Amino acid sequence: MTHKITLERNKLRFSAAHFTTFGGDCEPLHGHNYDVLVEIEGSLTADSWVLDFGDVKQIVGALCDELDHKFLLPLQNSALDVTSSGNECEIRFAERRYVMPRADVVELDIDNSTAERLAEWFAQRICEALGNRGAENVASVTVGVEEAPGQAGWFTLHVQNG
Ligand SMILES: [Zn+2]
Repeated sequence: MTHKITLERNKLRFSAAHFTTFGGDCEPLHGHNYDVLVEIEGSLTADSWVLDFGDVKQIVGALCDELDHKFLLPLQNSALDVTSSGNECEIRFAERRYVMPRADVVELDIDNSTAERLAEWFAQRICEALGNRGAENVASVTVGVEEAPGQAGWFTLHVQNG
């Protein structure tokens, strides 16, 4: 038997700049006010909850803070030529060249900063954090990353031995 908790919006949001690459092309630099939606399924603990909402808000809020007011750099994107040295990060795509302060860049271990991949990044990091807190009753973590109202990418991570 599975129960589910959901958390959305409230303070689970971040504003960030990015561009995605697609089919050999590259979007212009732009930004979004992202909203994060989280669904966690699992069995009930002895306290008759899946997880403490406050704990989940703290975990997801901290992840949003990591991305807030940053440029989202997909480190595994083979279409981008990235060089970080000193305090600067240089990103090249064809004739285009961006140089940003490294402090303004968050390096993500993903291949493209699509909402789907960002949702996957969140789901993995949430699972890690829950594991570190000893949550053994979680069966799956689903995250939606909404770039604009009504436009979201989703990812579900099924937890082993959940
Ligand atoms: Zn975008």
